[in-house]
Amino acid sequence: MLIAGGAALLAGFPPAGTAVPASSGTSVSKETLMERIGKVEKTEAEWKKILTPEEFYILREKGTERAFSGEYNDHKESGVYRCAGCGLPLFAAEDKFDSGSGWPSYIRPIAPSHVREETDNSLLMRRTEVLCARCGGHQGHVFADGPPPTGLRYCINSASLNFVKTETAVFAGGCFWCMQPPYDKLEGVITTTVGYTGGNTENPDYESVTSGNTGHVEAVRIRFDPEKVSFKTLMAEFWRNINPTMREGQFADIGPQYRPVIFVQNEAQKAEALASREALNKSGRFDRPAAVDIEPAAAFYPAEDYHQSYYQKNPMRYEMYKRGSGRAGYLKRVWGDEGGP
Ligand SMILES: [Zn+2]
Repeated sequence: MLIAGGAALLAGFPPAGTAVPASSGTSVSKETLMERIGKVEKTEAEWKKILTPEEFYILREKGTERAFSGEYNDHKESGVYRCAGCGLPLFAAEDKFDSGSGWPSYIRPIAPSHVREETDNSLLMRRTEVLCARCGGHQGHVFADGPPPTGLRYCINSASLNFVKTETAVFAGGCFWCMQPPYDKLEGVITTTVGYTGGNTENPDYESVTSGNTGHVEAVRIRFDPEKVSFKTLMAEFWRNINPTMREGQFADIGPQYRPVIFVQNEAQKAEALASREALNKSGRFDRPAAVDIEPAAAFYPAEDYHQSYYQKNPMRYEMYKRGSGRAGYLKRVWGDEGGP
């Protein structure tokens, strides 16, 4: 997205404060990802009404469950662990490891902004307490004796978590800043992460991917609850946010790192993706067939923190970029009010 040369490009953009493209208004649910972070505050009596006695003891009174007693200590399904108090996703199954401690252990939170860490001097020890960033519920502690790559061990109570089984979808649609908002607003999407995938180097960073030589593309990884949103719906959202006829990049961003790709996780997703692409070609909406490749999913490397939720961290710059790159205008022309957020 031309960060280095961005200043000159931005100078020619419409001034900030002009009308922002209208949001599609479709599929906006009562509890979308965008709204999930924020604050949840309740009185003790209100918490007691919605929590079990054990959940209350741990979340609100900073209690600890007995080692090896919790339901997630030995739990190995693929999905996401949410705060039992407010539902905010806190940890992902892929970051869980067997620490032998008797409590569920993770090498990192699902997103840095989802947890709060505080010094805890109780029990004659200096420890770092881990709390839910949204409701302040006590989760456990973090210790510096975890495995690589983080070296951290988030030692968490099972009773302060609720597990939800999720599936994963990965889409590349050019600049990944623009691919996060459309999915954050969908009900059933648990988390979105922007990153790099599909290339031939390990642990790529923004600089190396931008060179265009690593083979990676900028992409968004979506963890979703298949009971609430289907892969088909995620596909439909994909088409409404890209230019499917462009193979060499997307909008103003040209280069192999911006080519559009659907990375499928299994045969079912592959079949859905093929059918969706064919339906798009038959729809007559575009004068050329979709130039979007369908490839098997590869290792996904989350991008640097400043790229995550860029549209929320830098809303003005994001809107300028989205308009200046031509994406916003194109989606409006092709889809009217249905096009991207
Ligand atoms: Zn919470």
